[in-house]
Amino acid sequence: MYSKSIQNLIEAFRKLPSVGHRTAERFVFHLLKSGKKQVGEITLALKELIDNVKSCETCWDFSDNNPCAICNNKTRDASTLCVVSDPQDIPVIEKTNAFNGLYHVLRGLVEPGEEDLDRLKIKELFARLENNKITEVILALNPDLPGETTMLFLEKKIKEKNPSIKATRLARGLPMGSDLQYADEITLGSAIKNRTSK
Ligand SMILES: [Zn+2]
Repeated sequence: MYSKSIQNLIEAFRKLPSVGHRTAERFVFHLLKSGKKQVGEITLALKELIDNVKSCETCWDFSDNNPCAICNNKTRDASTLCVVSDPQDIPVIEKTNAFNGLYHVLRGLVEPGEEDLDRLKIKELFARLENNKITEVILALNPDLPGETTMLFLEKKIKEKNPSIKATRLARGLPMGSDLQYADEITLGSAIKNRTSK
């Protein structure tokens, strides 16, 4: 049995995605062996993360400013909203230079059969659709089962609540089951440009 402090940190690391017990153990003993400097750097970085990063309460990306730089940028096209599941999707789409509208981060996807959707920023999305001059919503979600479930759900809801808004999807070309975050710029850029509505 390890000391309580070691055990606690192993448990803390295990809460991170894809980290099992073995990996958590490896992290802890690596830190113990590497000494105070590395632990200090990580501690400082974590403190800065908590102190400085906030949610943009418009698009729900994480940013040092609220509203974030994109929401605050008056040269962006406020009539087109690109819906993504995670904040990490935004830099990937920005890199394609194929989109100059605004974003909305759902912070996850609807799981098939899921009823309680309050963990996602869906209410916030529809509040934006009510109060703005948005004419198109691009559903840029992963081409997998949760992505598909979420797109069907949002398309239906937009049709009911905001029938004048066009809901579009990325053109086919991204392999089924793949992750947007790993798509290459050219493929993703052309999937955005050639987006389709149902
Ligand atoms: Zn924002």
